[in-house]
Amino acid sequence: MLANDRATAVQADSQAPFYEAAGDEAAVFRAAARGGLPVLLKGPTGCGKTRFVQAMAHELGRELITVAGHEDMTSADLVGRFLLKGGETVWVDGPLTRAVRAGAICYLDEVVEARQDTVVVIHPLTDHRRELALDRLGTALPAAPGFQLVISYNPGYQSVLKNIKESTRQRFVAIELGFPPAEAETRIVAREAGIDAATAGALVGLGNAVRGLDGSPLREVASTRMLILAGVLVAHGLSLRGAVQAAVVQVLSDDPDVVRALGELADAVL
Ligand code: ADP
Repeated sequence: MLANDRATAVQADSQAPFYEAAGDEAAVFRAAARGGLPVLLKGPTGCGKTRFVQAMAHELGRELITVAGHEDMTSADLVGRFLLKGGETVWVDGPLTRAVRAGAICYLDEVVEARQDTVVVIHPLTDHRRELALDRLGTALPAAPGFQLVISYNPGYQSVLKNIKESTRQRFVAIELGFPPAEAETRIVAREAGIDAATAGALVGLGNAVRGLDGSPLREVASTRMLILAGVLVAHGLSLRGAVQAAVVQVLSDDPDVVRALGELADAVL
């Protein structure tokens, strides 16, 4: 019986999303989850924010409902709307409403610019009320135990902070995630792409060289995600240089001069 239980436990654990922690982010998230506090995840695109939330949701045994942010996101996209179905008008919950009902983690991924009506919806969920106003239904829905709001954003972009009222922002716990230290990132790239440590190390070396460029004209730097994609190309038979050209250099810029400079950097580093 015990052996069986153990086997089940091990099996369940092997389902856990792989996440390599860089600091105390898991401890902060756990405490915030216990306290029902909303979390702001800050960090550049492709640095592991989504994977971190997936791993925490798994550990906490919570359902995870993810909403990909976009500029035109309205409150109806989050809360829900009336739709015509077979001649009848029916209310369809949006992802935030589903999460509030289910006691799930609602992850608003990379909110670039929160519109004012989005902020209005979020506000009562983050304070003592913990409720979602369903204006069109004329009710307010109390959040089920376990509900937690997580918002990620990239501070490098025109920031959501501009539009989130200070009073709302101050209700969040903030966790900053950056690119992992070289050794950890090498393990991540090797494991996720299925390549050897030496190749992963070379890709991480290039990534850090690009990140360290002074006065870089790039909007984004080489992310862990890009390095993994380059690694996947290598795992599927492409040369390291070919993979870097396709998954990193050409993705980072369209400007011929910048592409040439990045290519030279790759030649020097690899
Ligand atoms: P973000 O949400 O910040 O844009 P992701 O979480 O999607 O980034 O990360 C991109 C990919 O990089 C993930 O799919 C995962 O393969 C890998 N990754 C990045 N950081 C980590 C980490 N700390 N542990 C495990 N995998 C990671």
